[in-house]
Amino acid sequence: MASIFDRSLKGVRAPHRKNTMDMETRRMPVPEKVYICMSQHMGPPCDILAEVGDEVKVGQIIGDSGAFLSAPIHSSVSGKVTGISEIIMPNGTRSKTLVIETDKKQTLHESVKPPSVTDRESFLKAVRAAGLVGLGGAGFPAHIKFNPKNLGEVDTLLINAAECEPYITSDYRTIMERAGDVLYGVETIMKWLDIKSCIIGIEDNKPEGIKKLRDMTKDMKGVTVQSLESRYPQGAEKVLIYETTGRIVPEGKLPADVGCIVNNISTVAQLAHYLRDGLPLIAKCVTVDGGAIASPGNIQALIGTPIREVIAFAGGYSKEPRKVLLGGPMMGVSVYDDGYPVQKNSNAILAMDENQVEGYAETACIRCGRCVRSCPMNLMPLRIEDCFNRGDNEGLMACKVNLCIECGCCAYSCPAKRHLVQMHRLAKQRLRQDQQKKKGA
Ligand code: SF4
Ligand code: SF4
Repeated sequence: MASIFDRSLKGVRAPHRKNTMDMETRRMPVPEKVYICMSQHMGPPCDILAEVGDEVKVGQIIGDSGAFLSAPIHSSVSGKVTGISEIIMPNGTRSKTLVIETDKKQTLHESVKPPSVTDRESFLKAVRAAGLVGLGGAGFPAHIKFNPKNLGEVDTLLINAAECEPYITSDYRTIMERAGDVLYGVETIMKWLDIKSCIIGIEDNKPEGIKKLRDMTKDMKGVTVQSLESRYPQGAEKVLIYETTGRIVPEGKLPADVGCIVNNISTVAQLAHYLRDGLPLIAKCVTVDGGAIASPGNIQALIGTPIREVIAFAGGYSKEPRKVLLGGPMMGVSVYDDGYPVQKNSNAILAMDENQVEGYAETACIRCGRCVRSCPMNLMPLRIEDCFNRGDNEGLMACKVNLCIECGCCAYSCPAKRHLVQMHRLAKQRLRQDQQKKKGA
């Protein structure tokens, strides 16, 4: 009998549906208005650095914060600030948002020029000035990632090109269209952080991408391209580290604690772009797909563009969508309003039709154990659910619910359609509140 710790059983083989992988990125025209949120990174929101009535230019800093986990926010357009509003983010939090009416001239701000990078300190300063955050995930500021306390012990730069979520192909388009930027970014990071080895991890459902990267890196010292089995969630940070290096990130530790710094491939390409031209992060390539999209494709949109305009550029809705997701079907979040703007870490907009969104009714757990077998973190979702329902916080801690990466493999595998991921989020929130109460007491 196979062990539940057998890695080959972990994760799920979800259909890839990479329908747009061979579609070149199309650039969207400048919209009439952009809506730029001050919460586009992990950590506290930025303070607004512009006022209603101000004229702003492309690349101008319009939001920043002195908080540790923050990154500056730049204007993606030239035009006039016409309002400051508050929008409700898909996760339910609120964010101050600058509304800018564009003049369509895209005049560059005077500060937009290539940074002077002469040593590690000036490199890290440039990374922060670029406003770079992890473009494929939670928006972790890149300059913090590049500056762990134990940098001297880091020996491997891992580039995440797995792009394991179904439908999404925006990172793949980066490989096919901007491989030169990727490699320049890799070289620069290795040089200034003094890292000798780099592994680019990419799933084997992208053979042309693997070939292109291998051809282009064959003379680069210390750089290898590692083909990974196409099995979701190969691109999850801890899974990628294990699959490429065999190292396990212990509970409460960071990738740097096992000698790795992990970066998304589009983040690295964007860094190269900033170092060459001085233009910070103002636009994102997003995959637009799903059964309710008339003409799926990859589209480069300015940050702050309402997603309904991106969808309109992709030919509009072909039918009434049942659900619009920001991100993939496994970890994406559903948006309640398609006026929500494109963010730094948006990588896909999926408009699903009624055939793709089934109204699942939960039934009782049949103790089949499929959720346990599929969990890449070796957790026991059925036991977590028992503890959650009993209000047993100590049991939740013992089950290590805090290690759940919310990948959705358990819910995907569950024949009873238990809403396991939502329950894990609530369980984690309950533990946080419990700890805060104890601290207060
Ligand atoms: S959502 Fe959490 S518990 Fe479920 S499979 Fe992923 S890591 Fe495991
Ligand atoms: S997969 Fe679903 S039905 Fe099976 S044990 Fe887990 S929660 Fe229960």
